[in-house]
Amino acid sequence: MSNLTKSRISFDNLSKNFEEVDPGLTNQEAVEEANRCLYCYDAPCITACPTGIDIPTFIKKIASGNLKGSAKTIMMENAVGASCARVCPTEELCEGACVLNHSTTPIMIGNLQRYATDWAIKNEQILFKPGKKNGKSVAIVGGGPAGLAAARELGLLGYAVTIFEAEEQAGGLNTYGIVSFRLPQAISFWEVNQVESLDVEIRTNTAVGKDISVEEVLENYDIVILTTGMSSVPNLGIDGEDLDGVYDAIEFVKETKTKPITNQLLGKKVVVIGAGNTAIDGATCSVRLGAENVKILYRRTIEEMTAYDFEYEFAKQDGVEFRWLTTPTKIIGDDKGRVTGIECIKMELGEPEADGRRRPVPIEGSEFTLEVDAVIKAIGQSRYVNLIEQFGLDHKGGVVQVNSETFQTSNDKVFACGDVIFGKNQGEAMVVSAAQQGKETAYAIHKKLFSHVSPTV
Ligand code: FAD
Repeated sequence: MSNLTKSRISFDNLSKNFEEVDPGLTNQEAVEEANRCLYCYDAPCITACPTGIDIPTFIKKIASGNLKGSAKTIMMENAVGASCARVCPTEELCEGACVLNHSTTPIMIGNLQRYATDWAIKNEQILFKPGKKNGKSVAIVGGGPAGLAAARELGLLGYAVTIFEAEEQAGGLNTYGIVSFRLPQAISFWEVNQVESLDVEIRTNTAVGKDISVEEVLENYDIVILTTGMSSVPNLGIDGEDLDGVYDAIEFVKETKTKPITNQLLGKKVVVIGAGNTAIDGATCSVRLGAENVKILYRRTIEEMTAYDFEYEFAKQDGVEFRWLTTPTKIIGDDKGRVTGIECIKMELGEPEADGRRRPVPIEGSEFTLEVDAVIKAIGQSRYVNLIEQFGLDHKGGVVQVNSETFQTSNDKVFACGDVIFGKNQGEAMVVSAAQQGKETAYAIHKKLFSHVSPTV
């Protein structure tokens, strides 16, 4: 493990490791940074933000000490703007487009966004008021970023909105999936609270298709929006997956956000299978739970890895090792049913597949075994096919098919956005894109129901 990791990770008090890593900007740092902004006319950072936040304006408001105004500017465009300040790949979006990249360093837009929204959270601000009721009702199935963003917009437009949320708390992966040392639950809860303050009803512990039927939801509302995201990590399809010590990465991270931190991995050797967001979060959580060695195994190379650069750097700083072109073939256990090792094979890249990425092919005779105590599966997420079919919606392998402008599904009354439409060359699995799609879905619904009243939305 690297010295850096040793210095920032405590093995005496593991729960401390789950406190937020980045302390955020001080008042002085924030004002100095805000004053560096050139307030460009036609600012490229606005165009690069999927939700179109007026970045120069919110930064100017920080410089002039108007923090409530700044937070309002952010949250007006992005209902989960406080979470996005922490989890967006800013170097690929707003900061990547900053004109100062050409001369010096880009403005720390993410950190400034966090500074303004943190102020609003700390000062318990409620930023918006519900719109005048317009007599129409919308059911939203799933209270993650997409559902919350749609609900927020519809609340402002005067709709009676009910969110059905299967979990005990709303917020989706912001609440349960993204590790607390990058995104504490309190941030997500504040955003949920902002939405509730617009008279949006959130029925938690209510899974549609289980606790309430799909028919009842379809019957009782004018419009339904499906924002259920994606489901659990699929099986690897190899022997040994039922052994004690094999985890689903999403469940694994969720436990660290909802249950007391345990020392179950203290001194253990862990491998994580996959190299996306979930794999990085599973690996960095393992380090914080005291694992002695954490390896990410990926069947392709760094070029094809779907984790963001900042996540990759973060994992490396935590001492996580990466084994490229490596795939597991069998998980080995002892007579008590506990994981003791994993058999792997080396891969090479062959011809490109349909998605353009080169197909990994096993190299005969390259098999080897690693001694491990835990295996974390992080090879993507499966889909809620059953629920989608209960709604009778067209889908491709669980990816709900929508009109790309209106987010309308094959059922006139049902719209869908967020991760539930991600995949098969459609959508993008990011908090910020889920938020934007939720917003656009709300506008499309308003246009559909009220265009005869007011042609402009
Ligand atoms: P979700 O956030 O999944 O929310 C869906 C909601 O629907 C959940 O609350 C769920 O409980 C609920 N639901 C499901 N079924 C039902 C039902 N039948 N009835 C009622 N409710 C239901 N993106 C980034 O931009 N940056 C990151 O750093 C990042 N890190 C990530 C790390 C991990 C581990 C994972 C898994 C994802 C990460 N992502 C990240 C992706 C991002 O979290 C998602 O793209 C985003 O949360 C999608 O929002 P959503 O609202 O569509 O779905």
